[in-house]
Amino acid sequence: MTSTLADANAAITALWPLSEAESWDAPGLLSGDPHAPVNRIHLAVDAVLDTADEAVGLGAQLLLVHHPLLLRGVTSVAEDRYKGAVIARLIRGGCALVAAHTNADIVGRGTSAVLAERLGLTATRPISPTSDPAQGIGRVGTLAEPVALGALARTLAALLPATASGVRVAGEYDRPVRTIALCAGAGDAYLSHPEVQAADVYITSDLRHHPASEAIENARVSGGPALIDVSHWASEWLWLETAAQQMRDALPGVTVTVSELRTDPWDFAILQ
Ligand SMILES: [Zn+2]
Repeated sequence: MTSTLADANAAITALWPLSEAESWDAPGLLSGDPHAPVNRIHLAVDAVLDTADEAVGLGAQLLLVHHPLLLRGVTSVAEDRYKGAVIARLIRGGCALVAAHTNADIVGRGTSAVLAERLGLTATRPISPTSDPAQGIGRVGTLAEPVALGALARTLAALLPATASGVRVAGEYDRPVRTIALCAGAGDAYLSHPEVQAADVYITSDLRHHPASEAIENARVSGGPALIDVSHWASEWLWLETAAQQMRDALPGVTVTVSELRTDPWDFAILQ
């Protein structure tokens, strides 16, 4: 039986219910005809020119991304700006666009849960649970044995796809860590959360100078976690293969592929 975009979107919303998205978020169907047939779906973290071209080039009828392209108010989809160009290329190529964002962050096998699983954490729980204590933003869990902070950073570096910014650490290389809090994507909002403060290390992305500096200085005064800052794209890219397998299970007969293109914006770094 041929699947349609409506079938694919129903599978997506069953896995990642739109009702669970944060109020500011805009996931779901962004473009496409619900009646159109879908036999190939391509997954990426970001809908950008390269991933749109890749999806169309592969003959996918659906590009499923993590980040909603039209999150903020848009008054034009003219092709002199990238958002319009991405949408136009997808529409011309017969490829719909759907995003699963915070609704895919909170679920049992969401972005943070996959990162926690890949690090081997046990007894994991959300940093900030929803009304369901098994669901929520971020994860806290424990390693079977304490490891040096530097060794954990090296494990992350090996686990995540390579990016120019690499893995940055605040804390002594040999400091032992066992309880790990993490939030795939930008997690600075949770730096002062009690679950994060009680952990030995907090792994997240996009830590800016002031929030990171304040967290480290506060930790010197009253205790707190070491910090590991990883690429936002890399931390969420790890989830795509889990999501792809869930889509394959939900839509037998549909080919589901994962983009290997790096959509982390940085191309290179000069180490001093
Ligand atoms: Zn993100």
